[in-house]
Amino acid sequence: MKKLLFLVLLVFGFASAQISRSYIDANDPIVNKAVDFYVSYIGQFNQDDAVDYAKYWSAESCAAFRNPDLAVFAISDTYPTYRLGVQTTIYYAKRIREHVLIKSVLSYRAEDSTNTVYAILDHYIKIPSGGETFKFTAPLVLNKSQYREKRFGNIDYHFPATTSFDKRKAKQLQTQLATILKAWGFMPVGISYYFTQSAEEMSAMRGFEYKYGDEQQTPSGISYPEDRLIFSTGSGEDNLHEVLHVYFNPMYVTSPVNHALIYYLAGGLGHDFQWFINRMDEYLQKYPETNLSQFDTIEPKDIMLHIDFTVLGIICKMVDEKEGVAGLKRLLGYETVDALFLKEFNLERKDWDAFVREKIKLYRK
Ligand SMILES: [Zn+2]
Repeated sequence: MKKLLFLVLLVFGFASAQISRSYIDANDPIVNKAVDFYVSYIGQFNQDDAVDYAKYWSAESCAAFRNPDLAVFAISDTYPTYRLGVQTTIYYAKRIREHVLIKSVLSYRAEDSTNTVYAILDHYIKIPSGGETFKFTAPLVLNKSQYREKRFGNIDYHFPATTSFDKRKAKQLQTQLATILKAWGFMPVGISYYFTQSAEEMSAMRGFEYKYGDEQQTPSGISYPEDRLIFSTGSGEDNLHEVLHVYFNPMYVTSPVNHALIYYLAGGLGHDFQWFINRMDEYLQKYPETNLSQFDTIEPKDIMLHIDFTVLGIICKMVDEKEGVAGLKRLLGYETVDALFLKEFNLERKDWDAFVREKIKLYRK
């Protein structure tokens, strides 16, 4: 996800946004005002100031989520969805009971005239009564009856009513988590965990008809450690990876080892860490020219393989097997990978390739 963002910023970072309104029913003043409200809201994201969500979202939506706009950081956890599409097209605006539903497409048209669609969004705007002003209602709040809740341990699960809750998986997560929390000295915290089986269901939960990447079948997740909030697709009740982000990020997010450590402890994309070691070994056979001395900047030709997390995850494995958590905490303390390799293994960058290749061979199963 972060890599996608990098690409997007490269291509689109300096373009300015345009909004077009091509919906049919322009004669209804309420609909027009709701569209104005929506346009003013997305305009907020082209300014540097923090958006005042309470000004735009209903009290009920703000009470349910610290950031009630579940679409804004859904494609990237740091870059607003509304800035991804250089062109925003409002193609539908209609009263539906006490709301105006606005549908819009965020897209980018390249110089060669190819179009990329980043998101198709649904926004529900409550029609004001009395002295109120227009306010968005979060789709999850509006469609509450379509979802169920289940508390297990200190995790509040939320999922579509059509999905059944797998207690065995929830229990498995608690068992794995308890071991890690004890070893690392973390106090358990309450977590809100939203999960679906498909990417499309997750998108609907967050207010999209479509978002970039929905066509991929791979399990995925995104976490907001400050909010102790997780959205997970395709992994059911036991996405340990995202849960660990909630615990580790507040302390270690600036460490170059943090994400790799989470891959080592919990795996990712629906696979355990051993799978990544094996995948890395296969990758090196297929692309022998790969220079692992540059592992921290290589763009892999395999979208399932994060070379950087796999290499540093292997380093975590080596240190963990020898010294346990104390050694891993030391690794998290390095500011750069260069410092880590030098201090831990007395290796300069040019020597990393041979060293890491040897470890991959050793750990491959
Ligand atoms: Zn992650």
